[in-house]
Amino acid sequence: MGQSYAIFGAGPGGLYTAWRLLAGGMLQPGDTLKLYEWGTYDFDGTGDNRQPAGRICSHHYLDEDSATYIEIGGMRFIEWSGEQYEPGTNDQKPAKGHRLVTKTIHEVGLYPDVVDFLTTDDPLYYLRGEHFYEQDLKSNGGSVTAPYNTPGNNEAPPNDLFTHISDLITGTNVLNFRSQQCRFYADGTLPGTFNSFVYNPGDTASNVGYWNVFYDQAGGEGFSYAADGGGYNSNVINWNAANAAVYNGEFAPGGAFKTIAGGYSRLFVELYRKALEAAGTDVSFELHQGTRLHSIWMEGDAIKFRLADRSDPYKPTGDTALEADVAFLAMPPNAVDIVAQATRFDPTPGRTDFLNEAGVANYLGSVIEQPSYKVAMFFETCWWENSKYPPKLEAQIDTPDGKKTTTKSVFGPTITDLPLRQVYYFGDNALPGDQGKPVYGLLASYDDMRNVGFWRGLELSVEERRETAIPRDLQPLEGGRKASEQMERMLLLQLAKLHYGDPNAANEIPAPLSTVFMDWGLNPFGAGYHAWGAHYDIADVMQQVRAPARLAGVEGAKVYLIGSAFSNDQAWVEGAFCTAESVLVDCLGMSPLIDTSVYPLICGGSG
Ligand SMILES: Cc1cc2nc3c(=O)[nH]c(=O)nc-3n(C[C@H](O)[C@H](O)[C@H](O)COP(=O)(O)OP(=O)(O)OC[C@H]3O[C@@H](n4cnc5c(N)ncnc54)[C@H](O)[C@@H]3O)c2cc1C
Repeated sequence: MGQSYAIFGAGPGGLYTAWRLLAGGMLQPGDTLKLYEWGTYDFDGTGDNRQPAGRICSHHYLDEDSATYIEIGGMRFIEWSGEQYEPGTNDQKPAKGHRLVTKTIHEVGLYPDVVDFLTTDDPLYYLRGEHFYEQDLKSNGGSVTAPYNTPGNNEAPPNDLFTHISDLITGTNVLNFRSQQCRFYADGTLPGTFNSFVYNPGDTASNVGYWNVFYDQAGGEGFSYAADGGGYNSNVINWNAANAAVYNGEFAPGGAFKTIAGGYSRLFVELYRKALEAAGTDVSFELHQGTRLHSIWMEGDAIKFRLADRSDPYKPTGDTALEADVAFLAMPPNAVDIVAQATRFDPTPGRTDFLNEAGVANYLGSVIEQPSYKVAMFFETCWWENSKYPPKLEAQIDTPDGKKTTTKSVFGPTITDLPLRQVYYFGDNALPGDQGKPVYGLLASYDDMRNVGFWRGLELSVEERRETAIPRDLQPLEGGRKASEQMERMLLLQLAKLHYGDPNAANEIPAPLSTVFMDWGLNPFGAGYHAWGAHYDIADVMQQVRAPARLAGVEGAKVYLIGSAFSNDQAWVEGAFCTAESVLVDCLGMSPLIDTSVYPLICGGSG
């Protein structure tokens, strides 16, 4: 009898695991691998279903594969050069970038299609009713002061304030390598220079809330400038200050982001295809879409589970439980919690209900959910280029001969304190050969946290009553949903303020050809991304939560939890790949896909 493997969730983490198990030679003839996915993704290119996978979704105009598209989920990665260290740093700094994502893109043959997804060197801001460009701030040699009463800080971009707060928290600690960062998360302390009425030098940094310490150091106005000007409310919530201090700064304008021509979803279609190809005829590999994990538990050493159909997702199908030798829960904590709910109030004797065991529940609760929202609009013209306050879509990049050149592969963002929060300009990115007339894409709102509620209130038109309870609305599994007239008009109103400084200009913006929204706060995702909570030893959580049944006391249980939520890169596909790879290597004995000597996959190991 062969070994049976089950993966629940065909998002980035689940697809990566399937591909690695099959292409990495782990599965032997006679073994079976079943991949179950609650949604139905367009792996076969028919265009009938939404683009893959999980929290990635490249939405094409009129669902035509080659037409202009906007990423309504994750959109970019940071390329890794393949070197261990940054050149010229005497091996003191590791080379930057998403190592597993870059390596995987090479392995599945998509590297020729990698293109720039750059951020502008000179973002437009519209904050507290004032327009300004970043290069016009005083610290950049201009005359502008941002409209926040935070002397000194308001003369520089908000990113400088983030860096300043990070430096205050981390002090003289050298945190270039992941291993150094992991140690700081585990037992780093506030430095001797830390000057505060609330905290003392030597306090454990990971037991401090980031919002708390930001307010403590920068006051309400400093905090508001960082929150508004940074673009992401999720970066300034009360998360783990040790982790936040290291992480913030990654979103700085000018980062060398890349994506895949035709949409980031292509990577996940390709992972699925390559997994299928690697299975060949010797290993049975089945994808079951529209099927969710309903419940899971251990009976002795056996992993038992039940499934449910998408049409009735909370009722189990069949009378008997199924079994697998190895199981992966490749889903975010909200989805895990929906699974855990099925057995939470049903203490059947003889079972270990590991997801509901107190220690596991505590570690599952170690991350804060960050709802996020995107609204995509398509137009016949790129009207923003000729507006009163146009985005400056240019960036300087290095050429191979060490010089600088200006590129226009730049997508934004524009940042505002209006509920739009961030705007990205996709423009006409149809693939060469697309037959349609030019269509220009605008990611009109990329927002998170409390702004999600603002847009959610506009999802139904003023004529409609709600017919589906919000927890049962599985919109993100369906793909972008058509915006109501009111949502469209609210977007135009705010875009008019942003780009013309005049709400009446809403009538001058051409009518959109199509507008769709994606509400990542809904089930089953519950969040766009996650942040580590304060008062946790992140390194220990990462090590333990990936084997939840073991954490609940069942030694040797081969049930694993993977995904970006419990990783070092919680807002990135890289995080999902790293947790999956850590399980494949540490628990199942596979050889790592990359050299991990200066790049521990997760914290808490020997690295
Ligand atoms: C707005 C936004 C912007 C982002 N930007 C970027 C970016 O630019 N670059 C980047 O790298 N990352 C970005 N991310 C993050 C990235 O999308 C995630 O980190 C990544 O998708 C996580 O993969 P995962 O496999 O952990 O989980 P998910 O992508 O959430 O996949 C989980 C899968 O499990 C399925 N599922 C849930 N419950 C069940 C069940 N009971 N049974 C079966 N299947 C189930 C879900 O349907 C889903 O397909 C962004 C995310 C959002 C929302």
